[in-house]
This record gives sequence, C-alpha cells and structure tokens, in this order.
Amino acid sequence: MKTIDKIYINGEFITPQGTEYFDLISPTTNKNLGKVLLGNTEDTKKAIEAAQNAFKTFSKTTTSERIQYLKNIKSSIEKRKDDFINVMIEEYGGTFQFASVSYEYMLKGFDSAINLLNSYNFIKTMGESEVQMAPIGVVGIIIPWNSSNGFICSKLSTAIAAGCTTVIKPSEMSAQQTQLITECIHEANLPKGVFNIVNGLGEVVGAEISRNPNIAKISFTGSTNVGKIIAKEAVNTMKRVTLELGGKSPNIILDDADFSKAIPLAIGAAFMNSGQACIAGTRLLIPENKLEETKLLIKETISHLIVGDPKNPNTAVGPMVSTKQFNRVQDYIQTGINEGAEILTGGLGKPQGLENGNFVKPTVFIKVNNQMRIAREEIFGPVLSVITYKTEEEAIEIANDTTYGLQAYVSSSDSKRAHNVASQINAGRVQINGISHDPMAPFGGFKQSGIGREFGILGLEAYLEPRALIQQK
Ligand code: NAD
Repeated sequence: MKTIDKIYINGEFITPQGTEYFDLISPTTNKNLGKVLLGNTEDTKKAIEAAQNAFKTFSKTTTSERIQYLKNIKSSIEKRKDDFINVMIEEYGGTFQFASVSYEYMLKGFDSAINLLNSYNFIKTMGESEVQMAPIGVVGIIIPWNSSNGFICSKLSTAIAAGCTTVIKPSEMSAQQTQLITECIHEANLPKGVFNIVNGLGEVVGAEISRNPNIAKISFTGSTNVGKIIAKEAVNTMKRVTLELGGKSPNIILDDADFSKAIPLAIGAAFMNSGQACIAGTRLLIPENKLEETKLLIKETISHLIVGDPKNPNTAVGPMVSTKQFNRVQDYIQTGINEGAEILTGGLGKPQGLENGNFVKPTVFIKVNNQMRIAREEIFGPVLSVITYKTEEEAIEIANDTTYGLQAYVSSSDSKRAHNVASQINAGRVQINGISHDPMAPFGGFKQSGIGREFGILGLEAYLEPRALIQQK
C-alpha cells in the first residue's frame, strides 16, 4: 500500500493543505493499491503564484537554455524506463504493449520540442513591422487518465519551449504515475516554479485553474463535457484555451483495399489502449457487398486477440481504468442491443476467468446505422460499430455525419484515391493505410473534438502571443 501525500510547488515536494484522500484501486484486481492526499484551492493558488513568479525570468531565457532543460528532463526519464512502464500497467491497467508505446511517445515530445526550438523564428517580419512571438504566461495543464504522463510530457515540453511556466493537474487516478514523472522533472534542475504539480479533483483544483486570473492559457485534454465547462469559465478572464476532446473516429475501408490487412488494422485502431483512446477508430465503414468477408476477418482477428493481464506482453486488451468506466461501457453495449444492432462478437459481461478486474469482452456490432447512440457517442472502451455504405460519396457523408472530428482512417490500394477521400473528411488528422504519430504535424479536432492544435509549429504558437512593433520612419 502506497501513500502519496506530497504535491510539487516551487521546486519542492510539499504536503498539501487539502485533507481529503482518494483511494487508488487496481483496475486488474480491484484491490486497493494505496491512496493520494488531494490538494485544495489554496494549494492551487500557491502553485499558480509560484509559476507567476518564475515566469518573470523564465520567459527571458534563451532557446539554448530551454533546449538544455528539455534535454535534462528527457535524460532523467530515460533512466527510469521500466518504472514508467510498470507503474502504468499497475495503476492504470494499460497493457505492456501500450505502456511501452506510451513511454516512447513521452520521449518524442521532448525531441520534437527541441527540433522546433532549433528551427523556429521567434522574431518575424510581417508587412513593415517586427513581430515578436512572446511567451503567453502561466499555463494551466489539465489532463485525463488514459495516457497521463504522455500528456504531461507533450504539453510541458511545448510550454518550456515557448518560455512559459506551468501548473499541472493530472487525474487523481494517476497519482503514482504522477509521482514518478515529478521525481524525474525535479531531477532535471529547472528553475523553481517553472513546473508545479497539484494532485486533486477536477471541481476543486481544475476549477481554480480555470478561474484564476493569473493563468493566461489552459491546455486541456479530456471529455467534451468538461472541455465546455472549462471554456465557459476561461472566457471570464479571456484565457486562451487549447482543448483536445473526444472523438468518434470513422475508418473508411474502400472497396479496392486489401481487406486481409485493412481489417486487422481496423481492429487495432478500434481497440488501441483497450479502447480508451480519443483517436480510436470506432466506426468501421465498409462497402455493403464486402460485409460477409469483413465479418469472417473480424472474427478471425478477434479470436487471436488476448484479453487479460496487462503485464503479459502479448495482451492486446486490458481492463477498463475503473468500475465506473466498466459500467459505462456495459451500458453502451446494452444500448446497442436495445437499438437493434447485432452483436457479431463479444457482448455483455466479463470474459471468463477475468471476473475480478474491470475487463470487457471486445465487442463488435453489425447492422449499425449512423444515427444510433453507439455510432454517435464516445464509448471509450473496446466496442466497434460496423456500418455499411453503397458508394464512396455515401461513405464520406457518413464519416462526416458526427459532432466530432478528431481523427479518421482510410484504406485503399490506390493511394491517390485514398488521398482524395481523406481530403474530404472533417477531422484534424486522417491516417491513410496505417497508423502513426507525426510529432511535427498538428494534432487536434474539428467541431466538438476541440479547439486549437498541439504539436509542431501550430502547437508551439498556441503558447505564444504575437507582439507587432510598428516603428515610424
Ligand atoms: P474528464 O474530462 O472527465 O477529465 C479530464 C480532466 O479534467 C481530469 O483531470 C479531471 O479531474 C478534470 N476536470 C473534471 N472536471 C473539471 C472541472 N469542472 N474543471 C476543471 N477540470 C475538471 O476526462 P477523463 O474521463 O479523465 O478522460 C476521458 C476523456 O478524455 C474522453 O472523453 C477522451 O476522449 C478524452 N481524451 C481526449 C484526448 C485528445 O487528445 N483529444 C486524448 C485522451 C482523452
């Protein structure tokens, strides 16, 4: 049993003033792993004050100083690879496979921030003016539980690159993962107050970050509902916001695709991170006359999919993060049944032998139409809806008939055709014939999947304010 009773403010691990504890429960066994002492509003105010003081000097650091800080953090994270992977498996129930990818993603965040700093011009000429791209101020970083340290690294590295200081609020369910990353960043010897981390509840710590006038910008990843609450509060003090929200990503398989490759890829896209991924391809769009072939390939692929102990390196689908999340996914499977969709594989209940953890049977629905709730709402579990289409135009129409627009997928043996279809989809990223992450390309959502972009130049500029100096001749 571990007790985490420190938060990190102004370069030190300190005991919060908050007195409430939150239990940390294993998603794999539902046994108690420990508890975390939660920070309160006063703790959050202290963290913001520390970041505000640090901003005065950190905003004036040179790019080479910032590159050195980024390198320091990266090298301290590199020393604890196994710890990062193990704690994610234990506390979050992330599979070994996902935790390993997530670890590499953390490191890439620092590489891309360093790359940007090596090439970005903070002073530009526009018209006849000098335009200075100035660090925006103190950034509040609020993140969810599904890739906690990955999000801390990508957001913090961009903030440091921009010359901003930060107050980070991770999910209270990620306290052990947070403790580890905090130890690593502490070791990197950043100036005091550049990063501050407050464990706590969204309605307490998150709400203070959203309200406090000394926060200039919020970078939030999480649900669309909470994103809306934060954006409404933020406008009172005109905070800038970057919101990375939910998704219901379409995956269009065109009739000329190699289905023996495209379907296993589609299952991988749907069930990545045990389905708890904002970018999961949860609507599979296939030509009507390919349904029978698709059904066989889905069953074949899923029969080889290992569901179970996330520690096992071969496990593809682990438990849901909490019993609450398990129940939510079960409710959606029941909704699909009630709506008249047909279960091709999976269904309600836990897989045999896995009754102690929050395990869901990977579930695929056929006979889904795009108006059903299981096709419109984000489930955040291993549940895939198969939707048939007659023409390419109809496929594009169904893909775009959603309130979301975070990511999409297209498969075709004709890359020109795939490119043409991809160019008509309203999503921030469209993956063609595969899945990968480009840390120098923008990431973010159309429509209710968010506001703004992360990564690359657009991601960096979201932490900067342009100041135009117009000198009279
Ligand atoms: P959530 O929105 O419930 O919580 C996210 C964070 O916001 C947590 O730290 C939470 O404590 C905090 N929060 C809650 N209420 C708040 C309030 N009133 N004010 C300020 N902060 C508050 O999300 P979750 O359940 O932790 O994560 C799952 C969601 O995250 C899914 O909807 C998923 O799509 C989304 N997500 C999006 C992306 C992306 O990049 N677009 C990536 C991963 C997850």
